[in-house]
Amino acid sequence: MSALLAFEDALKEIKRSASVRVDKQTIPLINAVGRVLADSISAKISVPPHDNSAMDGYAIASSDWQAGKQFTVSQRIPAGHHPEVLIPGTCARIFTGANIPAGADTVIMQENAQLMGDKVIFNEQPEAADNIRPRGQDMHMGQTVIKAGEKITPIHIGLLSSLGITDVTVFKQLNVGILTTGNELIPAGEQLSNGQIYNSNGPMLSALVNHAGHHVRHCLHAADTPEDTEIALKTLIQSCDIILSSGGVSVGEEDHVKGVLEKLGEVHLWKIAIKPGKPIVHATLDGIPFLGLPGNPSSTLVTYHWFARLLLSICSGEMAELPQPYLVDAGFNRDKTIKRDEFLRVSIGKDGLAYAHPQQSSGALLAACESQGYLHVKANTQVEYGYSYPFYPFSGF
Ligand code: AMP
Ligand code: MG
Repeated sequence: MSALLAFEDALKEIKRSASVRVDKQTIPLINAVGRVLADSISAKISVPPHDNSAMDGYAIASSDWQAGKQFTVSQRIPAGHHPEVLIPGTCARIFTGANIPAGADTVIMQENAQLMGDKVIFNEQPEAADNIRPRGQDMHMGQTVIKAGEKITPIHIGLLSSLGITDVTVFKQLNVGILTTGNELIPAGEQLSNGQIYNSNGPMLSALVNHAGHHVRHCLHAADTPEDTEIALKTLIQSCDIILSSGGVSVGEEDHVKGVLEKLGEVHLWKIAIKPGKPIVHATLDGIPFLGLPGNPSSTLVTYHWFARLLLSICSGEMAELPQPYLVDAGFNRDKTIKRDEFLRVSIGKDGLAYAHPQQSSGALLAACESQGYLHVKANTQVEYGYSYPFYPFSGF
């Protein structure tokens, strides 16, 4: 029996073995939310492109200011107009977003201006650069603004639009094949007979994969026979960039995934020291990466979150980043220690402490729905009230 692989070592192994499996394509920026940027983007212009006014008011040269001095308004500059050079000793009426005229170095907001017929007096002495948004305040020409591998967000759409960009080069979506296994499983919508349960991992994995921005090419189901498993895998190999499966990866007589993989490809069985989770099959079939997750739904979820998500993300060209934990104090004690890293499904109480859901069975999914994230309890560690542990909100996955 092979030794258990430590959690961190399994993550390293995924990172080591995985590489980008998709080509690039150029698409309209507006359709790019959730896609992975393939080429870093640098600013071709500065934003804003010119010094401009942050206020409705008056532009002057700060050195012209004197207490009680009456300024002539020598020009009017609405946003979008090209200003004249400021006549020395005068002021320009200016509006928010309008370019600052050469010769002016400050804007006095209109609330601080006193109109005297067609003249204006400024009672407070302005400082140079007041109320001016300088050229390049947001982005400088040449600056890298998004790096290859970042996932494009709605904020990026705004940012890139402000640079005048209409198209971006992204990675094509990863085509993911999903295989669920088990004679006991039937699809939701059918009538259950004795001994049967509904297939929840198929829809859950499809949803997780979609939610991460990938494309589910096929979601197939195989009975617990080598023949059925082989037919399904051969179908998936033909059209998918990567394959995930659930169940059938243990060493029981009804577990056929590993055997078929051995026939069709190159296989490593990992027993990872985590709970829930443990047996995972990692393989390559015709050059296509394959990750076989355990069948118990909470184990499927945890191993998807930690390992499949990382693998998919690297294969899709994304920067491989693990979710960031927060340190949270435990609101409970647990004397028992186990030899595996445990990912307890917990919620954060109003007191800010983490509370473990009472149901931590690897078969139970409601507990995960009723929790907010994982408390990572390292192998051979007790949980002590008031001590802090890394907490990973589900939203980080
Ligand atoms: P296995 O890894 O195939 O031995 O499955 C472990 C447990 O998970 C068994 O109780 C299965 O019935 C259950 N299971 C396996 N696949 C699924 C699935 N797709 N949906 C729901 N439960 C499953
Ligand atoms: Mg099974």
